[in-house]
Amino acid sequence: MSREAHKPWEPWGTVRRERPFSASHLHLFHTCVLRLLFESERFRPALPPSPVALLGTAIHEFLESQRKPTDHDWSELTAQLLDGRIAVRSSAFPGTAIAFADVLPVRSLLRRVGRIKARWRARSNPSLHHAMGARRGAIRSRVVLEKFRTGRTMALRGKPDRVEITETGAVEVTEFKSGRIFREGRVEPSYLLQLLSYGEIVSETEDADVSLRLVGPDGEYRTDYGATQRTQLQGFVSGLERTLPAGADLLAEHLATPGDGCRNCAFRPGCSRYLASAPTAWRERQPISTPPMDRWGTIQSVHDDPSGLRRIYLTNPTGGLYCVRGVPRAVSDRPLEAGKAVWFFNLRAGEPGAGRIPINFYIADVNSPRDSAHAAAVYVR
Ligand code: SF4
Repeated sequence: MSREAHKPWEPWGTVRRERPFSASHLHLFHTCVLRLLFESERFRPALPPSPVALLGTAIHEFLESQRKPTDHDWSELTAQLLDGRIAVRSSAFPGTAIAFADVLPVRSLLRRVGRIKARWRARSNPSLHHAMGARRGAIRSRVVLEKFRTGRTMALRGKPDRVEITETGAVEVTEFKSGRIFREGRVEPSYLLQLLSYGEIVSETEDADVSLRLVGPDGEYRTDYGATQRTQLQGFVSGLERTLPAGADLLAEHLATPGDGCRNCAFRPGCSRYLASAPTAWRERQPISTPPMDRWGTIQSVHDDPSGLRRIYLTNPTGGLYCVRGVPRAVSDRPLEAGKAVWFFNLRAGEPGAGRIPINFYIADVNSPRDSAHAAAVYVR
């Protein structure tokens, strides 16, 4: 089946790699090769992004816009966010746009972005350039990023946040992160792989010394991109190409590796290995130690609550009985009726207490919208 005709909830049979590997997803090689392929091929995710992910995208776009410092208005963006004028479409309230401020702790997130921005400003400060031996205007060109989208000798694809060429001809590549870049004193390996990939893509185009920089709220990391880094990256990419050869038909279930990486994978509804292993994980926490808040089974009964939302009872073939409340009428593509098969994804647990296996879940919480399952998805068959 072609990827255009494939429906998000239909299990994938055969898959084929037709594009270079996505630099920002290379680390998935160590957790799930199928997801690496999905992300590299830009398959349509079956689950909506969370508000945190949406805000992260907005923040990233803002930081990218600072390539031209004169055409941004930080204070205006801050005001919009704090006023809640930027809204998020929520699965928990279909048809309604909710302000970010109603679903996320925007102020603390903005403080984090402010720290990144301060670091960027320090780098852009002319006196700092001077102290580094460069004079004002030493960065003579904001390189057209379209130039750096794919590798020529390695099957890599990606767009660095920022590429600068100094008057000496050296190239500096910068990647901004809104999350921490160091873990236990070491740079996050997935970010390092991404950064090296950008180094490769840029160095193939520019015959110059290439330095790499990662900027996050907890600090800054720098490295060069030279022969040693290139050899390491080449070995890694060659391994990827052996596992996912371009143009070959591959069985999705042979590539999938259910585990803790499934938790933030937006392709779960169409992954047969995940669907087969999750019911065991709900009971035994294996092979997924913290299973995503998904449940599926046959609808036993549907109840209308005074809030106008619905309460659904369902049973799973393995014997589990579950309740999902706060279900908006328009959340699914088909009517929710007794006897039908239903799949709920990205729910919220109704029982407090870490470590307990929940049997009660909810989608919308009208009394506390922030606590709703904004990225929920429901499929009925
Ligand atoms: S759901 Fe899990 S096993 Fe399936 S593609 Fe995603 S990460 Fe891989």
